Amino acid sequence: MIKEIEIVRPDDWHLHLRDKDLLPFTVNETAKSFARAIIMPNLVPPITRLIDAENYKHRIMKALKPNLSFIPLMTLYLTEETDPEEVKQGYKSGQISAVKLYPAGATTNSQSGVRNYEKIKPVLEIMAEVGCPLCIHGEVTDSNIDIFDREKVFIDTVLDKIRTDNPALKVIMEHITTKEAVDYIFAENENLAATVTTHHLSLNRNDLLSGGIRPHFYCLPVVKREVHRLALLKAAISGSPKFFLGTDSAPHLDHDKESSCGCAGCFTAPNTLEILAHIFEEQKALNKLELFTSISGAKFYGKNINTDKIRIVKKDEPTLFPKKINTPSGEITIFSPNFETKWQVQV
Ligand SMILES: [Zn+2]
Repeated sequence: MIKEIEIVRPDDWHLHLRDKDLLPFTVNETAKSFARAIIMPNLVPPITRLIDAENYKHRIMKALKPNLSFIPLMTLYLTEETDPEEVKQGYKSGQISAVKLYPAGATTNSQSGVRNYEKIKPVLEIMAEVGCPLCIHGEVTDSNIDIFDREKVFIDTVLDKIRTDNPALKVIMEHITTKEAVDYIFAENENLAATVTTHHLSLNRNDLLSGGIRPHFYCLPVVKREVHRLALLKAAISGSPKFFLGTDSAPHLDHDKESSCGCAGCFTAPNTLEILAHIFEEQKALNKLELFTSISGAKFYGKNINTDKIRIVKKDEPTLFPKKINTPSGEITIFSPNFETKWQVQV
C-alpha cells in the first residue's frame, strides 16, 4: 500500500481570500501548500480596475508570513463597463492572469455582474486576441429556472454562444457541478477547461439536505445528485488536461452561514490536499493527483509548472484538523466532509 507521495507543489486555480482582517488567515492557509492561486475579484466593491488589483495584491502580500512564498494571480471582475484596452494592458503586463465573468446575481457579491452579454463583446474579442482566459461562473440567474438546473441551462443558452462567437477565447468553466458540464467540456476543443472543487468531489445533495440542513455544505453552484458527483470524480481522475483543481475555498464567518439566510461557500483551503489524496486513493488514482492539482491548470493558463515539490504522507490514524479558525471578526468553520482522511501534507 502506498504510504507517501511526492507531487509538484500545487496551484489553486480558483480562490477567495476576502480582505482586511481575514487576509492573514486566508492567505497563509493557502500559502502553506500552494505556490500560486487565481484570486477571485468579488470583493465589496469588486476589483474592476487594474489599480484595484494592484492594491489588493499588495494587501495580500503584506499578509503573507515571511517564511512562506506565494504568488497571487490577480483577476478583474468583468462588468458591462470594463474597458477592453485596460484588460489588454493588464494581461500583457502580467498584472492580471484572467478576467472573471459573474452573471449578475449568481453568487456572493455578484450584483455588478453581467446582464447584457452584447455589452461585453468587445472585451471578449480583445481577450481572445491577447490570450487572456475568461473564468466563468456558469449559472443562469433567472428565478424561473430551478436552482439545480441553472448550470445546464447556462451551458445551453449562454456559454455555448460566447464560445461560438469567440472561438479563440480561452474559457474556464469554474467549479462545475454536473454531468452535463463534464460531458460538454470533454466534447469541446482545447480552448475550454474547467475547475473542480474539493467539496463538489466530496458531497452530494443528500449530504447537504438529508437529516437536517448543513449550512457548511452550502455553496454555489449548489451540490447536485450523486450521479453528478461521480461524473466530476471521473473527470478529476481522468488525467485530462481540461480538468484541474480550483478549490473555490470561500470563507464566511459562521454567523453569516448559520443564519436564516446563510451565505454560500465552503472553507476548504486548510485541508484540501489531504481530502483529495483520500478521494484519489479510493479511486486507485493517486498517480493522477499531480496532474489535477499541479500540472494541468498551469498548462492551460500558459504558466510555468512549479519546480518544488510537496510530500503527502499516509498515517495510521485519521488526520485531525482544527474545526474552526478564530479571526478578529469571528469564527470560520473549516470544511469537514462526511469521511476521514489519513493523509497529511508535510510542511
Ligand atoms: Zn468562487
